[in-house]
Amino acid sequence: MVKEAAMIRLREAIDVTKEIDLDQPQIPPEQLARIKIRMRDFLEAMKYIQPTVLREVIVEVPPEVHWDDIGGYENVKQELKEMVEWPLKYPRYFEELGVEPPKGILLFGPPGTGKTLLAKAVATESNANFIAVRGPEILSKWFGESERAIREIFKKARMAAPCVIFFDEIDAIAPARGLRVDSGATDRIVNQLLAEMDGIAPLKNVVVIAATNRADIIDPALLRPGRFDRIVYVPPPDENARFEILKVHIRGGLKLADDVKDGGDYKYLRDLARRTEGYTGADLAALVREAAMLALRETIRSNTNQVKPVGIEHFEEALKVVPPSLSKQDIARFEEMARNLRRTLRGGL
Ligand code: ADP
Repeated sequence: MVKEAAMIRLREAIDVTKEIDLDQPQIPPEQLARIKIRMRDFLEAMKYIQPTVLREVIVEVPPEVHWDDIGGYENVKQELKEMVEWPLKYPRYFEELGVEPPKGILLFGPPGTGKTLLAKAVATESNANFIAVRGPEILSKWFGESERAIREIFKKARMAAPCVIFFDEIDAIAPARGLRVDSGATDRIVNQLLAEMDGIAPLKNVVVIAATNRADIIDPALLRPGRFDRIVYVPPPDENARFEILKVHIRGGLKLADDVKDGGDYKYLRDLARRTEGYTGADLAALVREAAMLALRETIRSNTNQVKPVGIEHFEEALKVVPPSLSKQDIARFEEMARNLRRTLRGGL
């Protein structure tokens, strides 16, 4: 940082104030002596130099994900709006009414159902910054420094407020006692996390959202009031949500054949949605991508300069290559875990 501050000052002296003339054969020492590095050079340098611990913590200035980039999940969106967007946008109403907004929200559901997308969208739509942290990274990248990393993340969030901190795979850093491989380290991290969350004053414009698909192994201490005391279940998409998700993914200018578009009715996509039980949002995105790749391959092979639009035959072919990631049993297991989680939460209140 010191070096950077010096460079900033030097650049100014050469380019802006012309205190130094580089054309002379030798720069007179008295000219150099007059140039002093000021506080503002250090402050400027700080913008470019990140503390090592935080190199991986990237504050995204409102991520570009909007509500309509997420197909379906209207209830979940509404819940997140009320829990995150409203307190960040209308803190005064909450204060006047004496309503305490949640500090922590736990998104629970199978992988690939759009939890990360939802957290990003709620940040964007609330004009908040976004810090994403993956649970396993806290343990591995910052080995031995994990508590400090947690402290720094919260510090950074407070500086970037309004801010959403998103902990993906929270179960990696906060598994229930007894399930931990190295209980000493994870205990310290959990304690640090709890201390930071307890320390967030209400309405200080920092909201913590965590996501997990292993609600069964999360430390119950995290679920007490004032911590992750709101749980939002993000289930596998139902038929209607699957249709909406397919539409989101063809929206970005994908060239569709008439048999798929069918005058804007997308009857075929409705049919596809009905037939894709067990497909998550991520699976459906992969399905559309695969269908597009098949059309592309045909285009290139045909050697005719004619771009082949994506048609029913491509989707049908793609279905054979992209399997659903959830079985009926998986879905039942997630429903069961969601019920247990809600029970734990109510028990704790
Ligand atoms: P999770 O965090 O639940 O594992 P992600 O949010 O990372 O899931 O989703 C992975 C990808 O799957 C997204 O980038 C997106 O392309 C797609 N996806 C998942 N759910 C949806 C959805 N509801 N609408 C549109 N795309 C989705």
